[in-house]
Amino acid sequence: MLQLRHKQVLVVGLARSGVAAANLLLSQGARVRVTDLKPADQLKDELSQLRGEVETALGRHRVGDFLSADLIVASPGVPSDIEPLRKARAAGIRVLAEVELAFQFLPGPIIGVTGSNGKTTTTSLIGRMFEEANVAVAVAGNIGIPLTRIALEPSVREVTSVVELSSFQLEMIQHFRAHIALILNLTPDHLDRHGSLKSYALAKQRILLNQTRQDWAVLNADDELSLGMRPEAAGSVCLFSRRPLQEGVCVEEGQIVIRQKGYSASVMSASEVAMRGAHNLENVLAATCAAHLSGLSLEAIRRTIRNFKGVEHRLERVAVHDGVSYYNDSKATNVESAKRALQAFSRPVVLIMGGRDKSGDFEQLADLVKERVRRLILIGEAAAKIAGALGSSVPISEAENLEQAVVQAGRSASRGDTVLLAPGCASFDMFDDYEQRGREFKESVAHFIHHQR
Ligand code: ADP
Repeated sequence: MLQLRHKQVLVVGLARSGVAAANLLLSQGARVRVTDLKPADQLKDELSQLRGEVETALGRHRVGDFLSADLIVASPGVPSDIEPLRKARAAGIRVLAEVELAFQFLPGPIIGVTGSNGKTTTTSLIGRMFEEANVAVAVAGNIGIPLTRIALEPSVREVTSVVELSSFQLEMIQHFRAHIALILNLTPDHLDRHGSLKSYALAKQRILLNQTRQDWAVLNADDELSLGMRPEAAGSVCLFSRRPLQEGVCVEEGQIVIRQKGYSASVMSASEVAMRGAHNLENVLAATCAAHLSGLSLEAIRRTIRNFKGVEHRLERVAVHDGVSYYNDSKATNVESAKRALQAFSRPVVLIMGGRDKSGDFEQLADLVKERVRRLILIGEAAAKIAGALGSSVPISEAENLEQAVVQAGRSASRGDTVLLAPGCASFDMFDDYEQRGREFKESVAHFIHHQR
């Protein structure tokens, strides 16, 4: 067990998880200092939630704070290789991920979810399956309650935690052990931060680190890189696939089927999945693996899959007007997720893309765009790059902002079409985050429809 009493601990990053980590440290008698690149006036809420005396170093990181700490705890959004962390490590100072700190205090089983896309959706689905089955669960990580907050609550720390894990956190884990570890897929996202696909894959693979023979790896048989992790699994493997499998959770003759160590059951027809798109079917299959391995009833799994409509900003149906459907997939921040969004529609699509490029290979969308997209409307910094990659496949126009893009899209769409926001880019050139972008899309759609009436 980590000895924290009277230790000088530096918490890096003061968002929700940083606050929770600081409070957990305070409860253990540590002397806590927090540092964040944001200045104090942008962190008022966070600072007000600290339960005890905490020193602050805000607006910038001071290397001295890192070098004088006995221990450093990094929040989920903090890259493991920022310079002060590197210097601290070189000086022999222990750096813990926030989830690792929490892990030291969590006796309950952990279901960890990672992958390039689908983490939030799958994590929520698993949480909902537990709730449907009336089995206590804590949904934690990026999407829910910080894991360190769960570690602070005696009543919840015994229960199963379903944790969405960022690759930054995975890069830093040392003893963290997931009883069930899901690697949904691996596509070249975040290459700007991670350098190569290989180092990115290695980070995700760390979710299997520390697993024992009693543990489970849940891998995607339809994704080469996820399946390629199989030799790394110390415990058992549960595969999932949209195609038939001898063993695992799969789709066979239109039915979702579980086949595991002699057990065999048909869950339901794949056509009953409430969420749209093949990628969401994959998320459903992965969540079914985790739920089944956790002993949840088929009925609870079934009910959840039938009713779960998805998470906000992920292929979210916003409105239908004049026979045109509007979908918000603002969370499609990389080319792969934009592609999956587009594949979810068979009718003609008026597509809005653009934002801050994350070294995306937009050319791989050319065939699909040619086949499905009536008009492509571009916004943001990446507009010229996307136009260069896709200009010969589809009519393109540029819009000054998202609101204008929605107006252009609505006017270009015919009855039976879908207007889809799937930017394939980050949002930070024009918005605070993808959520603000998604909200603005929804407001613009409402506004456009209102003025059509
Ligand atoms: P994450 O938490 O990994 O970012 P989300 O569930 O928030 O995943 O979804 C992110 C984006 O990826 C959304 O645009 C969503 O529609 C799309 N998506 C969801 N699941 C998958 C999947 N299994 N494969 C590819 N794209 C997906």
